[in-house]
Amino acid sequence: MLEQLVELVGAEQVTDDAETLAAHRFDRWCLKHWQDWRGEALSTAACVVRPRHTEDVQAVVRYAASNAIPIIPWGLGSGVCGGIEPTNAQILMDMSAMHQVLEIDEENLLLTVEAGINGLIAEEAVAAVGLTIGHWPQSIGISSVGGWISTRASGQFSTAYGNIEDIVYSLEMVLPSGERVTLGKAPRAAAGPDLRHLALGAEGTHGIVTHVTLSLRRQPESRRFSAWYAPDMASGFRAQREIVQQEWRPPVMRQYDASEVARLFPDHVREDHCLILLVHEGPGSRVDAEMHAVESIMADLGLDPADSASAEGWMSHRNNVPEWRDLLEQGLIADTIEVSGTWSQIDAIYSDVVSALKTVPDCVNASAHSSHVYRSGINLYFTFACMPGDASVMGDRYLESWDRALTATAQAGGGIAHHHGSGRLRRDYLHHDLGAAGIDLLRTLKQAIDPQGILNPGNLLPSSE
Ligand SMILES: Cc1cc2nc3c(=O)[nH]c(=O)nc-3n(C[C@H](O)[C@H](O)[C@H](O)COP(=O)(O)OP(=O)(O)OC[C@H]3O[C@@H](n4cnc5c(N)ncnc54)[C@H](O)[C@@H]3O)c2cc1C
Repeated sequence: MLEQLVELVGAEQVTDDAETLAAHRFDRWCLKHWQDWRGEALSTAACVVRPRHTEDVQAVVRYAASNAIPIIPWGLGSGVCGGIEPTNAQILMDMSAMHQVLEIDEENLLLTVEAGINGLIAEEAVAAVGLTIGHWPQSIGISSVGGWISTRASGQFSTAYGNIEDIVYSLEMVLPSGERVTLGKAPRAAAGPDLRHLALGAEGTHGIVTHVTLSLRRQPESRRFSAWYAPDMASGFRAQREIVQQEWRPPVMRQYDASEVARLFPDHVREDHCLILLVHEGPGSRVDAEMHAVESIMADLGLDPADSASAEGWMSHRNNVPEWRDLLEQGLIADTIEVSGTWSQIDAIYSDVVSALKTVPDCVNASAHSSHVYRSGINLYFTFACMPGDASVMGDRYLESWDRALTATAQAGGGIAHHHGSGRLRRDYLHHDLGAAGIDLLRTLKQAIDPQGILNPGNLLPSSE
């Protein structure tokens, strides 16, 4: 296989050296890091291929298709749901050598990049000409634009600027046949179903995303911060609903429960209160008007102002997170679970999931904040941690926490996956969101697009009955 791949794309683009294979065994799924930390042998791919352009991708895919060899796409490996789990009969396709900015179109506010580009580098390229992508996942410096598409990612500023599906203009994808297809052509279209969505959230199972064009924004003229105390989660949600339903759009609105305020904002604790942080951006006059309106909504609902330094502090430290290994060394197995629900469901989702997580043995933390707001509802981002003493049961505690949280969310009517995707972690829970008929439809699509099942087998779709 190696010889043939070298012939197709060149010796420098193909390797089976042990270090590179080991570095591509898994993404940032906590469970794999625990297994690795425990010393379990985790499988590697047969080789890692790093295509330089779309033609390389096509050549490798055609070769793989004619030999029925699976390909596992790798962006920058920051996924957290186990979307990458190669075996030694598979090719791992690392997209990071496709990292060029192809075009910045300042008149039409369009950026075209190769899909393996690091998100922060893409953002910096447009920032240099006064523009922004407006997509700021916490992982912006460790994730690729193709990964954003493939996982349906959300950025921290999504409440005003939208999630990745609202920002992507068009994309190029290599299908499992090796054919190249460009999806999306005009600012908006009624030319049949929107085929860009075959790539958005497909997690490498429908094709390899090779180029992406994103719709940009001008850098905001003004940015200001505000913060508020809510006596409980329900009153905070009510205030957030009022703000968005009155058509105000602070790009960032985050509401931390009292437990997270104590842990993350120790200088801003007020009894058992929740803390709501807002970032207001845009033309100066609109920002002023928005802040004025938010003040009056908060006052009407009885919420008190907090020190806006809490929001500024969040802004400057927002992407600092511990490594899994450091937590494991401290005896903790932890993760975050992002779900969503309508305004009528969200109070129950919050209390049911926190209660469900607390029933898991050795649970030492069950808390949440919200971070993405919509006219019809909001997300919740739960954090759990278990400290079992016996490291061998950490994996069980981990899976039990996920099971209880997703089951409680589904029972309360919520959506079980807001923005991290499915991977192997959520695939057997997807029926909660898609229903049996939806799962069948997804299988039918997969079968039609990838009849041999060569692209990322085992990912996304539930295991077959
Ligand atoms: C600390 C941390 C913070 C995070 N914060 C956020 C956040 O704020 N918002 C958010 O949405 N996510 C977040 N994530 C999750 C993760 O960063 C995103 O899912 C991201 O979009 C993954 O990009 P990647 O390039 O690293 O993809 P990878 O992990 O390499 O791959 C993810 C999936 O997409 C497939 N894939 C990757 N590239 C391609 C391609 N070019 N073509 C086809 N398939 C491909 C892979 O096979 C895999 O199934 C966070 C993760 C970490 C570790």
